Amino acid sequence: MEELTRLFRLAADHAADYRRSLPDRPVGAPPDQAALTRAFSGPLPATPCPAEQVVTDLLAAAEPGLVASAGPRYFGFVVGGALPSATAADMLAVGWDQLAFNAVTSPAAIAAEAAAAAWLKELLGIPTAASVGFVTGGQAANTAGLAAARHQVLADVGWDVERRGLLGAPPVRVIAGDERHGTIDRALRLLGLGVDAVQPVRTGPNGAIDLGSLRDVLKAGPAGPTIVCLQAGNVNTGACDELREACELAHRHGGWAHVDGAFGLWAAASPATRHLVDGLELADSWACDGHKWLNLPYDTAFAFCARPDTHAAAMSYAAAYLVGSGGVPTGANLTAESSRRARGFAVWAGLRELGRDGLAALVDRCCALARRFAEGLTAAGFEVANEVVLNQVLVGFGDDARTDRVVDAVQADGTCWAGGTTWRGRRFMRISVSNATTTEADVDRSIAAITRLAV
Ligand SMILES: *Cc1c(COP(=O)(O)O)cnc(C)c1O
Repeated sequence: MEELTRLFRLAADHAADYRRSLPDRPVGAPPDQAALTRAFSGPLPATPCPAEQVVTDLLAAAEPGLVASAGPRYFGFVVGGALPSATAADMLAVGWDQLAFNAVTSPAAIAAEAAAAAWLKELLGIPTAASVGFVTGGQAANTAGLAAARHQVLADVGWDVERRGLLGAPPVRVIAGDERHGTIDRALRLLGLGVDAVQPVRTGPNGAIDLGSLRDVLKAGPAGPTIVCLQAGNVNTGACDELREACELAHRHGGWAHVDGAFGLWAAASPATRHLVDGLELADSWACDGHKWLNLPYDTAFAFCARPDTHAAAMSYAAAYLVGSGGVPTGANLTAESSRRARGFAVWAGLRELGRDGLAALVDRCCALARRFAEGLTAAGFEVANEVVLNQVLVGFGDDARTDRVVDAVQADGTCWAGGTTWRGRRFMRISVSNATTTEADVDRSIAAITRLAV
């Protein structure tokens, strides 16, 4: 037992040391992927190895290839850094080694999910009766939401897609903005609807869908099973679709409204940004990430559905037993995973650590820091291409080649990290402020580095 304690402490001590080092260490990964691969490779061991030696070897092999994405100056990919309590809770989930399939395999895991689900719905303003699947990411949440949508719009015309599949089914049209996230397309592929099912809707100046275009596409038909994919938080600009009007339009045409709100749905958690997602409660399903702006560990996200029975009918493999049983389905009956890690502990812990006010402050702070970036970089003579409504900033440094050179230089420098993106046919640096520990000083230091490297 002493050995086990030593082993776990070794891992926990290292993780804590690493986290403490984040504000000061260079943000980028060194590019020597071959050396890392060499450090991990070697002949398959024929004989057992003491656990402590294994962990010591792992620390040595991995350390040079870690990216400080949990740190305060990492602005790529809408990445957050896991909150302390959530990180510790996740360590416990692994230490307890719980199987979060259902309340028989882990009563505690399911109870934590239930409590966290209620808090999440209250924070986001999602109807209290909605079901919540604790899934692995926005991709999985979009897939679950669109699976529920597929079930319902086909059931409405008398087609049982879970039994009969899509061969011979009435066609389903999917209406989605032309700046939707790529995971919507992958979900449509996985669900057999195919990307050709998409009727694209034009987006307006800041990347939110144009309501007039949505109206036209809905009207143009054909009538029949219709799914409308909306977005809260354009991955480039942060823009949110006008959800109230868009959901009403979708429903007027008998459609199902799904909202991809991987990060942008958190606008709902602050009184200052709530208006950006006004009307979100009218949707039928929502996808939202925990591991982005909520600063929870990977891999954590939520698939919400206004109709729990529909959700379970689409995702459960015990649907006959669950549907109509009266209770809201839980656990693996709401996700594509069967055996699952108990990610509810970390969600519960992170929400408890933040509280309602702490979460609102986190959202507000990130938005304010994004505006600080925009103001600072504008003052330095660079172009901010989007209206900074949330936590995303798109910066141009001249022509595409020059912008790409600046992005490369910033990544190599290591003071901060931001990715490149293409928006409306042009290259930009994309800055996402999503980390709970980022300060004004971090932003100022990053602006100084970017300015120094861009001249
Ligand atoms: C990140 C993101 C996704 C995908 O989420 P994962 O957690 O990476 O699976 C989907 N939609 C939007 C808008 C996103 O920003």
